[in-house]
Amino acid sequence: MAFAAVPVMFPQMQDALTQPERWNSNWENITRNIDRLEPSVLVDSLAVPFAAQPLRRDASLLEHQGILSNLCRTQALLTGAALTYFADANLEERWMKADPDLRGKHILIGLSNACSIARNLHDARVYCGRELTLSHLRSDGRTVLDLLNAVILPEVAMPKEPKLIPHSAWDAFAAAQARGSPNDSEKYALASILTLRTKLICHVIHATLNSFIGVELPKVAVAKYNKKNNPGEPFLGREFGQSVAENMLGVAGAKAQAKENKAAWKERQRGRTEYCSYGGCSKANDGSAKFARCKTCWDNMQREILYCSTECQKADWKPHHKSICGKPLTFEAVSKPPPPIPPRSMPAPQIGPAVGDHKRSPSLIVQIARLNLNPKLDYVTRIGTEETNLDFPDPEAQALFRQCREKAMTTGDKQSIAIMAHFICWMTLDNPRFQIAAIVEQLKKEYVFDELPRAIHEMQQRQNKDPFRRPPLLARMSPQNWVNFCKGMNVNRQVVLEL
Ligand SMILES: [Zn+2]
Ligand SMILES: [Zn+2]
Repeated sequence: MAFAAVPVMFPQMQDALTQPERWNSNWENITRNIDRLEPSVLVDSLAVPFAAQPLRRDASLLEHQGILSNLCRTQALLTGAALTYFADANLEERWMKADPDLRGKHILIGLSNACSIARNLHDARVYCGRELTLSHLRSDGRTVLDLLNAVILPEVAMPKEPKLIPHSAWDAFAAAQARGSPNDSEKYALASILTLRTKLICHVIHATLNSFIGVELPKVAVAKYNKKNNPGEPFLGREFGQSVAENMLGVAGAKAQAKENKAAWKERQRGRTEYCSYGGCSKANDGSAKFARCKTCWDNMQREILYCSTECQKADWKPHHKSICGKPLTFEAVSKPPPPIPPRSMPAPQIGPAVGDHKRSPSLIVQIARLNLNPKLDYVTRIGTEETNLDFPDPEAQALFRQCREKAMTTGDKQSIAIMAHFICWMTLDNPRFQIAAIVEQLKKEYVFDELPRAIHEMQQRQNKDPFRRPPLLARMSPQNWVNFCKGMNVNRQVVLEL
């Protein structure tokens, strides 16, 4: 069989952080060659070694599944960060207005840090081509924001499967592959490429935005690389990488480079650790105790599945591990990430998903994420970066508020938004900690509702016409309860809201 090969020598990963400009221009120089390559050449470069070695095939499939669930986590983290920057740091406007040189500075930080996470991500630049060149990304602010929009999730939560970034050439190749009858090697190779390129782009964007906003770069956990079941480099066959290097550098040069790469690899390994395989735990091994491996998997397949405790091994057994334990993996078995298990401390979500074609604004998604994290809160108001939490102690008022909030947040129903907004304003009227104008601005942005002040005013008129002067949110409250509510809350019934 002819060995499928990518006829370029990649820049060295260890140069990404030490000499980012040079490393990046080396990448951009070979990008022109890469863009002329048929996708099938890149797919074959993964599919051929995959098909040739059964143990390697098994390790690659397991790794692919790990990358899939890791990508889900990466996208949830990126979504949380990006939405917070949109809502609180005015990201979109600042990024669009920034000078291309300034954008470029942060993009280069994003590129070099993302590519330093792991070898497979570094080499995945070959699947991105022009899409990840500095000149392309920095010239128009929209480019990065469009990529971000392509991966941002509708909620800040672990998705069931990752959102892959569309790309005309790859999408056409995928459609053609689906029409044929691909074998597992071909399916694995394409899925692996699409997953890795999306993951790399997510990390580049996340690091770029953090750098631009001025917060610490995201920390990415990378599992220790198991040499035993991964003979050779994860991306290209070792024998092949060497032959390209010998062509370009001569035998002695290639040897020196291989030595340097090995030292850099050892250095990276030192910073890595083992993780518990149970998705509900994922604890890192701090070195105090050895993680036990699943014996059947090791004995039958030399597959290393590690658990921090027998509790985790038991918990992982029925929902996930039982179906693959000790058996050769198939592409089908690994092509979906294992179902996400929420950490035990996570409260159940308070707000339902958006209904129909209702699209939530970034600010509203952030609000919902904050409420989901803290079920005791009824609303989070912000003045600048300062947050003040609202919670209504009266159980009936709280239940009515939450019903209305649910409808406003899941459907975008204008009437519900107005009733809820009016109630928030009316309740905070006498409290010097709150500023009505700032709250109205925040709600306008969250619900993309410019007419909100007028709508709140109408609600106040409804309250004035009510025989008991109840705000519309409490219109169904019995007069007796209403009297108690006013006493208990120390609310001045006569206060009329002016906007
Ligand atoms: Zn564990
Ligand atoms: Zn097992």
